[in-house]
Amino acid sequence: MSKLALNGGPKIKLDSWPEWPVYNEKEKNMLMEVLESRQWGTLGPKVLKLNEKFASFIHAGHALSVSSGTSALEVVLRALGIGYGDEVIVPPYTFMATVTSVLMVNATPVFVDIDPDSNCIDSEKIEDAVTSRTRAIIPVHISGTPADMDEIMKIAGKHNLTVIEDAAQAHGSEWKGRKVGSIGTAAIFSFQLSKNITSGEGGMITTNNKELADLCWSVHHVGRSRNGEWYRHYRLSGNYRMTEWQAAVLLAQLERLEAQGNIRERNFRILNDSLDSIEGVETFKIDPRVTRHSHHLYMFKYKREHFNNAPKTRFIEALNAEGIPSGYGYIEIHQQPLFKTPEVKKILTRDINYESLELPETKRACSETVWIPQNALLAPEKDMENIAGAILKIRENRNEL
Ligand SMILES: *Cc1c(COP(=O)(O)O)cnc(C)c1O
Repeated sequence: MSKLALNGGPKIKLDSWPEWPVYNEKEKNMLMEVLESRQWGTLGPKVLKLNEKFASFIHAGHALSVSSGTSALEVVLRALGIGYGDEVIVPPYTFMATVTSVLMVNATPVFVDIDPDSNCIDSEKIEDAVTSRTRAIIPVHISGTPADMDEIMKIAGKHNLTVIEDAAQAHGSEWKGRKVGSIGTAAIFSFQLSKNITSGEGGMITTNNKELADLCWSVHHVGRSRNGEWYRHYRLSGNYRMTEWQAAVLLAQLERLEAQGNIRERNFRILNDSLDSIEGVETFKIDPRVTRHSHHLYMFKYKREHFNNAPKTRFIEALNAEGIPSGYGYIEIHQQPLFKTPEVKKILTRDINYESLELPETKRACSETVWIPQNALLAPEKDMENIAGAILKIRENRNEL
């Protein structure tokens, strides 16, 4: 008789996981305030308050709400004047927007492989990718793990490059006691539905540079100027503004972040300890310079040779069947069909054949890294034992995979 739930056996976890997103009366009251104020549009009191609160949360000089994390990236790149003929260094293990934002301003993304210990950009490989056309580096704090900001800032200083932190997954993460989002030239955050605080869609730009903050403001606001007349437009741009509805929800969400972060941190430690004793899976060790981790995703490595050589897809099916929410994560980014389109080829500064790039660590991460979403980390302690128990059960019954 089969043991795995995948094959009709009993499930490890029968009841549900914490629902996401979380809300209560706070969100309801804030939304009602917006409704009744009739200030439904943009740059109203809630957006301005959110900018203020977020800047002080990150300890950044300036924060600007925008419509999404993707548009935040585009606004920053545009404000920096990065465009055709420029190259931007990006990691290949990330959400596509990190890369497409570069193409959207007609600049060329240059991939640098990741460090398998963090799945973040490998800072030791960045310098080899710098050319006379390189303008910026976009390190991604993947899963909430800060990239090696010491080394990245050093290289950027040496070659006069801008650093844009993609902190879309890293609300509250810290590098040596400093919040990510306050270290680079600028940073972006996302409030998309899966993120640790959310308004369904939404984004934020942070920077310590006043001039850049003003430029971002203009770019996000169809090229208007802070002190200019309403119908006077100073640069080519679009509308990337956040609405009061989103800001209302985020003001309530922000108040919950710290306490939720503590629960995620506790459960992360429990999970790492339990998984370390299971053969065939490997945990990610946190660099001691990471003083706080948002744990947007719980990542671990699946070694198929210890599981009857079953591919990661099969293992994830088995895990989900046991009642453990898990996901495959990113697929190899440089193999995405978009890189073959004439539209993209026209933008590139040189003839980069993305499809044939050798990015061995990214390839390995795509085939080995398993994701458990952040809301599962909000569950009670005992549920962490269910996650470990399900993995152990699959390992013990690997002949069924
Ligand atoms: C979510 C995400 C983005 C894009 O944010 P949206 O708000 O969905 O546009 C960018 N980069 C990373 C790493 C992300 O996870």
